[in-house]
Amino acid sequence: MSDAGTEPLYQARIPIYPRSVKGPFRNLKWGILGLAYGVYFLLPWLRWERNVGPDQAVLFDIAARKFYLFGLVVHAQDLFWLAGLLMIAALLLFFVTGIAGRVFCGYFCFQTLWTDLYLLIERLVQGDRAARIRLDKTPWTAGKMMRKGMTHLLWLLAAFWTGLTFTLYWDNAPQLIVDWFTGRAPFAAYATTLFLTATTYVMAGLAREQVCTYMCPYARFQSVMFDADTRIVAYDAARGEGSQGRHKVSRELKSQEQRHQQGVGDCIDCGYCVQVCPTGIDIRNGLQVQCISCALCIDACATIMQSLGWGKSLVRYTSEKQAAGEPSRIWKPKTVAYGLVLLAAASALGWSVGHQAPLEMSVVQMRQPLFVRLSDGRIQNNYELHLENKTDEPLRLAITMRGLAGAELDVGRLASLELPPQRSLRVVARVRWQSHHDIKGSRSFFFDVIPQRRRDVGMVSAPATFYLPGRED
Ligand code: SF4
Ligand code: SF4
Repeated sequence: MSDAGTEPLYQARIPIYPRSVKGPFRNLKWGILGLAYGVYFLLPWLRWERNVGPDQAVLFDIAARKFYLFGLVVHAQDLFWLAGLLMIAALLLFFVTGIAGRVFCGYFCFQTLWTDLYLLIERLVQGDRAARIRLDKTPWTAGKMMRKGMTHLLWLLAAFWTGLTFTLYWDNAPQLIVDWFTGRAPFAAYATTLFLTATTYVMAGLAREQVCTYMCPYARFQSVMFDADTRIVAYDAARGEGSQGRHKVSRELKSQEQRHQQGVGDCIDCGYCVQVCPTGIDIRNGLQVQCISCALCIDACATIMQSLGWGKSLVRYTSEKQAAGEPSRIWKPKTVAYGLVLLAAASALGWSVGHQAPLEMSVVQMRQPLFVRLSDGRIQNNYELHLENKTDEPLRLAITMRGLAGAELDVGRLASLELPPQRSLRVVARVRWQSHHDIKGSRSFFFDVIPQRRRDVGMVSAPATFYLPGRED
């Protein structure tokens, strides 16, 4: 609402009808889209033979607390890799944005990829920009209802398949899809699919550029990553405007020579660069927060300039410095520093993944009670050992302890046990120790798990503390 003399707080959405365009950047975007969709939609169907575990190449098994990624099995304890991955993603974003601006937004972001698909569907059903504008202006007839209905139906189908595919990553895909359509899938599978169907339909079909302009935080904080050397999509104002500004082609301003003689720039004000823009902006007004750096306006202007025989596109990838005629460099101390930290983080993660321990043990002290005094005078502490066999073979293990001379370890019948492949086991360990009267407080010692008959799997140790009455600490 607005009163006289005050600005409205919200602006109603101005419909955008992006026009189709051909060119190298459009082809690049189709290529990336095809690749991204191929990976996303086909990956759950890719089979992968394992000695133990599901035969799905990528599967996030929440119930078993394991993520299967081709030959790698990520256990719950390895989830710090996820933190490493997020850190690498953030560093990559800083690194790439500092050099090439918002290329992630323009080429790789889900919102961009799915909006592109939705625009393609809209174009196939309703026609290109002019036809869509005409259709929106005509009264509701059976033909218009059919076209609009078909568009929304195809959008919903695309959204549904997107949501269902996401769900297939969390269980055995061939079985889950049968269960889904026969009503036997878990509730979470239906809820996830329907939630993603709704969000995909709303974000890519209805909200579109508003997601980038108003909802995405990245557009807001990108400015801190930009500098005068960052590649941006920019209009060559010197060439496009000349000294007298842009002008449409007229009899007196037909050839480039005529225009240059009269100080008129090469921009013929055809508006093609604005019409193809998915966010509906005019790049000739300078860099704007809505620009997702998709470069379609470069293709549009290149088409016009080529048809006129006037050379390259008036819109191009450049930097603030380059546009001002100053030397511009990509590799600056800031970029190199980001690159080195990124390389170090990626190497550390790669090393950690490559050196995944085949056998792991963690120890938790049972504190209720912390210790008990037995009838024979000995003190007993209890522990819970968590053993995990990350190999594809069963492991025969012996549990021992060291560092507490004369102590007795009681793990029941599990002093020597067989741990199946890719399985974990909790073992209650009781440690009894006859302490001397002058020893109080606590003592440190180690639990050892020794694999039997396996040279390739080493012994695993975990520290623990034995508590005594009259603690000093
Ligand atoms: S101005 Fe050009 S690069 Fe920016 S969003 Fe529009 S078409 Fe894409
Ligand atoms: S496409 Fe090129 S010539 Fe046409 S309006 Fe845009 S900048 Fe000017």
